Amino acid sequence: MIQRSLRHVWHPCTQMKLHETQPPVPIARAEGVWLYDLEGNRYLDGISSWWVNLFGHGHPHIKAALVDQLDRLDHVMLAGFTHPPVVELSERLGALTGLGHAFYGSDGASATEIALKMSAHYWRNAGRPEKCRFIGLAGGYHGETVGALAVTDIAIFREAYAPLVRLAATVPSPDARSALPGESAVDTARRAAAGLQSWLEQHHAQTAALILEPMVQCAAGMAMHDASYLREASALCDRYEVHLIAEEIATGFGRTGTMFAHQQAGIRPDFICLSKGLTGGTLPLSAVLTTNTVYDAFYDDEMARGFLHSHSYTGNPLACRAALATLELFEQTDVLARNAELAQVLDRAFEPLTQHPSVRHARRLGMIWAWDIDEAAAGHAPQLHFARRYAQHALTHGVVLRPIGNTLYAMPPYVMDATTAAHLARGALAALETTLTQT
Ligand SMILES: *Cc1c(COP(=O)(O)O)cnc(C)c1O
Repeated sequence: MIQRSLRHVWHPCTQMKLHETQPPVPIARAEGVWLYDLEGNRYLDGISSWWVNLFGHGHPHIKAALVDQLDRLDHVMLAGFTHPPVVELSERLGALTGLGHAFYGSDGASATEIALKMSAHYWRNAGRPEKCRFIGLAGGYHGETVGALAVTDIAIFREAYAPLVRLAATVPSPDARSALPGESAVDTARRAAAGLQSWLEQHHAQTAALILEPMVQCAAGMAMHDASYLREASALCDRYEVHLIAEEIATGFGRTGTMFAHQQAGIRPDFICLSKGLTGGTLPLSAVLTTNTVYDAFYDDEMARGFLHSHSYTGNPLACRAALATLELFEQTDVLARNAELAQVLDRAFEPLTQHPSVRHARRLGMIWAWDIDEAAAGHAPQLHFARRYAQHALTHGVVLRPIGNTLYAMPPYVMDATTAAHLARGALAALETTLTQT
């Protein structure tokens, strides 16, 4: 299986040569928080299958909804047609976010593209076509298609394609880890907001939108910031007539403790991008929600003033049904309150790890745990890729973790319990010890 895979499957975010020494794990099936390989070994899905899986694998409620939908309508194009799942989902997302118009894509990156295009086209329709540039935060990640790369500030993803991309401006990140000596997270947020302000002062007339990941810049290494940054950024966007795009592809659906991360700051963005957890991790789907003001600027007799963007699978009925079933799970049980309790259990379980002398900046927001490895303290040279080997050792301890730079993180499904929490924390600590003793 592995040989056939390596011959024909080109894996994402992977230097394929690495598979010579670290072959991909062949997964046969999954249930709840567990992934099972072909030999029956199981691994706790500690990162929710790249942050998408909220309620475990094969959740009976989502499964039943998908089977039922498959019997009714598998797919129909959304141009010229509509169908119950997309209507109901749009109504519900509108009620949850206060933004009443939902436009659908298939992946996170397509949501980013849609939001950027919609913002610039809004300004064009409003008679201000010069407002067509974007701002992103340092270390921001918004997907890897060519348009999304323009606002993605992660060198390794962007470098090779720089000539293809019309780069957005990058303003300072409020990452609390970047605090100067004596600075609080609020101070760091204020300093970053001042950087945004001085950029806007000069360039607002050409700027369509600021796009950011509220509360946690996940791909930057789970860089968390104080909510006050969002309030200041939102006020600056209002003052300078620049759209605020809350890019909640990773942070949405309870991951940071509230249904949507921007709600922790009490702000009202002009656009919200959703994907990943939207379908509970079953099918690809993304949505961009926006205001009446934006929607109305496109509403016209003239075709060219409309938002002429499409994907073949826009609003796919199966994906929308999976999303509805996921939202039903949030309604049926108080997921956010249960997660808050669960997080305490996990905090206690992770304590020996977070106190470890090689660990720095142990942090948590909602259902995201992250810790950085101090390679110098661990006595390992950076070129030995400590964090990467750490994640590899975690697998042998039955736990899926992933590194980002020298950060390790866990983003477990919401259906953890005391036993699986203990397994996850024990595996994470044991893998650290194993990595320290082996070079
Ligand atoms: C994953 C992610 C994306 C991209 O989504 P894809 O479905 O992988 O295209 C964009 N933004 C953020 C914040 C993400 O975490």
